Amino acid sequence: MATTSCDVAIVGAGLGGCFLALLLGRRGLNVVVIEQGPSIPSAGADFLKPPGLRVLARHGLAGLVERHGLKRDLIRYYHDGDPIQECRFPDGGFLIRPYHELVELIYASCAMEGVEFCFDAGITDIAIDDGHVEELTLSNGRRLRPGVVIGADGTKSAIRQALDIEQRTMPYERLLMRVATVPLSASVAQLNRLYFSSGGWLAYLYPISRDQARVFVGLPPEDDKEIFQEGIPALLDELKKFVTDSSDVFNALQPATWQRIKVSSLRVEAYHKGNAALLGSAAFACHPMTGMGMSYTLHDAEILAEAISAAGGDDDRLDRLLYARYEPRRHAHRQLIDYGDALAATFPDRDAYLAAFRADLHIFGEAAAPAQPPALQPT
Ligand SMILES: Cc1cc2nc3c(=O)[nH]c(=O)nc-3n(C[C@H](O)[C@H](O)[C@H](O)COP(=O)(O)OP(=O)(O)OC[C@H]3O[C@@H](n4cnc5c(N)ncnc54)[C@H](O)[C@@H]3O)c2cc1C
Repeated sequence: MATTSCDVAIVGAGLGGCFLALLLGRRGLNVVVIEQGPSIPSAGADFLKPPGLRVLARHGLAGLVERHGLKRDLIRYYHDGDPIQECRFPDGGFLIRPYHELVELIYASCAMEGVEFCFDAGITDIAIDDGHVEELTLSNGRRLRPGVVIGADGTKSAIRQALDIEQRTMPYERLLMRVATVPLSASVAQLNRLYFSSGGWLAYLYPISRDQARVFVGLPPEDDKEIFQEGIPALLDELKKFVTDSSDVFNALQPATWQRIKVSSLRVEAYHKGNAALLGSAAFACHPMTGMGMSYTLHDAEILAEAISAAGGDDDRLDRLLYARYEPRRHAHRQLIDYGDALAATFPDRDAYLAAFRADLHIFGEAAAPAQPPALQPT
């Protein structure tokens, strides 16, 4: 098969890869996205917080993603069955939209910008010369010579490995996560409720559409073996101890399929090398309790798009721009990862959790908090 060239090759068609492809396509660059799966990812995050919504608004996409999505502006937190605080989101709140739907909208927008997508195409070889990615060989035999390469290929990034960038993955071993999709009940339709227990359990219940809800359960791994082997009655017995204002969901849990989710934090020593850079979960991963991974990734894609475009195909200039504008993103990511670690470590202890909780980071992320502290109400 012939070798072809492109301005930018993006490996991975998740939110980060698709959004960056859209921004670069709009700037007139010739972009190819390589995705190992048969389509964009089928499952993932559900919440897009205000900073991410603002990024999309800057690019004329807020209306598109908010149409048919759900907006919420309040989360109520409980500990051992009692309400302990409420977190209110100003200015229209946050968006609930299943990951596949969100990414699909951005992917569909890419078609108008001439971005090429290669699905079912893994990377079989990455030719690197003196720190510069020269050529990618795809599993379908195609060879691609890109000006710039982006590893938006998730936590196990093949691009990161090929660049020999060191990473540190820390699984959250004390908290095993399971998720089920169930019919929407009245209490879940009314309010997002996040329950913690001093026994190391959590349960988060929220709607994902007009008739379906998601139930996230976090539990100590030793309980998982017992509970999910013994079946749903054992799970319900545990949940009834601390899930107090959502009992109408219990019946719906009976036939639910509980998917197990592995959650880890990820830190890497560098975000770029030569003509290649990492984006999204290839560059950092934090605990989902922050609800901010997508927001930061969208902003990172904006910065990358500006740097790649300003470099105009000049490798040295690209290196300088990425060093000056993109590498400093590690400070914001580190702060978010540390925050996720603190939430995951403290939630069984009511006072420690309330002390660790930062409404500014939770609502506004890295953006400066407003002069008035955001509404966080003890209940
Ligand atoms: C359980 C959980 C819940 C979360 N909830 C939220 C939330 O509510 N709000 C929020 O903001 N963030 C949340 N996050 C974080 C959010 O999911 C990430 O920030 C976001 O998905 C990053 O997007 P991405 O494009 O980097 O990665 P991904 O969506 O992981 O996309 C990577 C893509 O690369 C492809 N790929 C991998 N390897 C290769 C290869 N070698 N060749 C080709 N393709 C490849 C994969 O198939 C995949 O399509 C959550 C994370 C987890 C784990």
